[in-house]
Amino acid sequence: MIFDARSRKDDRSARVGMSLFRLSQAIKKMTQAESDALGLSPVQIQTLLFAFHTRGDAATVGNLAHALGTTHVTAVKTANGLVRKGLIVKTPKADDRRVTLLGLTEEGRRTASNVERWGRALEDALRPISDDALAHFELGLGAIVAALQRSGYLFAAEPCYGCVHFRPNAGDAAAPHYCELVHTYLTHEASLKECPDHTPSKQA
Ligand code: SF4
Repeated sequence: MIFDARSRKDDRSARVGMSLFRLSQAIKKMTQAESDALGLSPVQIQTLLFAFHTRGDAATVGNLAHALGTTHVTAVKTANGLVRKGLIVKTPKADDRRVTLLGLTEEGRRTASNVERWGRALEDALRPISDDALAHFELGLGAIVAALQRSGYLFAAEPCYGCVHFRPNAGDAAAPHYCELVHTYLTHEASLKECPDHTPSKQA
């Protein structure tokens, strides 16, 4: 019962839960203010950044829905809004035309570069905290993120480094790395993009 102050007193999970809930509200307020200044909604910015940072063949509408923590229908509507603005282009995936890939137009790429620093208000707010305190916090947060991922409430894409399926320098100069999950050689650039199938080699 995280909303009951008396229950929280003797329950660390409830206290941490309440703190996380309050943090989520503060972050929502911060990112909304930053989005207003950029003339886009927070989900539109997240969608542009998703298309910007996700490996091309993994930038599907389904993975966008996971990244936004929303339904497939809502993700389609968000993507369509950006298609109408001339920022996103939708194409069917070559090996499965039922799957839609999201890419950026030239204008979309420029806009995504401009919104790269979205979220800086949060970053700036954390700067005065000591590195030692942040290191402890990072450790604890990692455990919370892993727990929420295991429960299916949180989706976090990461680049290849540190993934259990990643085999660096197993290919040639053009595509030096190999993914044992999708059985594909990857260019170095592709390995630096975010992948929704990233599986940490050391589970928290
Ligand atoms: S599954 Fe792992 S190794 Fe394969 S592309 Fe994704 S992050 Fe890279």
